[in-house]
Amino acid sequence: VKVADAVVIDGRAVAARVRERVAAEVRELRASGLQPGLATVLVGDDPASHVYVRMKRKACEEVGIVPIHHDLPPGTEPTELAALLERLNTDPAVSGILLQLPLPGQLDAGEMTALIAPEKDVDGLTPLSAGLLSHGQESLVPCTPAGVMELLAEAGAELEGARAVVIGRSQLVGKPLAQLLLAANATVTQCHSRTRDLAAVCREADVVVAAVGRPRTVTGDMVREGAVVIDVGMNRSDDGLVGDVDFDSVRARASAITPVPGGVGPMTIAMLVANAVRAARLQSGGVRPG
Ligand code: NAP
Repeated sequence: VKVADAVVIDGRAVAARVRERVAAEVRELRASGLQPGLATVLVGDDPASHVYVRMKRKACEEVGIVPIHHDLPPGTEPTELAALLERLNTDPAVSGILLQLPLPGQLDAGEMTALIAPEKDVDGLTPLSAGLLSHGQESLVPCTPAGVMELLAEAGAELEGARAVVIGRSQLVGKPLAQLLLAANATVTQCHSRTRDLAAVCREADVVVAAVGRPRTVTGDMVREGAVVIDVGMNRSDDGLVGDVDFDSVRARASAITPVPGGVGPMTIAMLVANAVRAARLQSGGVRPG
């Protein structure tokens, strides 16, 4: 019988530790003559994207990675963006390339992302990175799912043989996360908008990760006593930022839960700088993913 509310996993604290670890690695790399640099490419004037890119550049500076920024006008043609990505692919000062999404309508996000060299793909979103992940080969893993795995480790969640339910199947979060949980030997069920009786599926799970984009999709009655619940959702509402999990009702049943804000959110940028260092190492070792 459960006697206490869930432990609230402190994503800000875990993210701060990841950043410290990355800063130490950067110092080491610099001492050996390698300076990691992260190129951010922003096309157009989406205000939220500007904020995100600014946060990413700042996070780079804080850990000693050189931020290299390219701002392109909203009317940028596919050939122009392709040429820039090609240049960054071969520029030795650039260890990672981040193409901020969404892109303006004339640019196809999938096509443009696929042009990024796999060893510089710090968002882990190219088809090759996704394929390597599913083949269990060394690859750069998308930042948000990688952050979720760090939080599960922090919570002490036993994944080996555990039943894990991932709600959501996006390329950005749900799919790579299911691969990571599978690689950690969980028994993974992937749910989505067509899943029948989501509540019953969730109730079977030792670990529930919600990446839905719909406020309070997971409620207390859908969670078994003692489950670990991770909330990826970031939904803007009249009450501010809310997750995909109904925090109060789930907290009363779970053994550990992430809050929104202060859970998965801070992890994404921390894992980005971690990936930038990983990319620099991949290149310096002459190892190409795949
Ligand atoms: P997405 O591309 O919109 O995918 C949402 C997924 O949820 C889809 O697979 C969809 O199923 C599924 N879904 C929708 N309604 C559902 C329902 N009623 N029951 C079960 N599944 C349902 O979103 P995303 O990019 O994965 O992001 C998910 C959430 O995470 C969003 O709130 C986003 O803001 C947040 N996010 C946070 C971070 C962070 O740093 N914390 C990073 C990325 C995303 P179908 O495939 O059938 O349509």
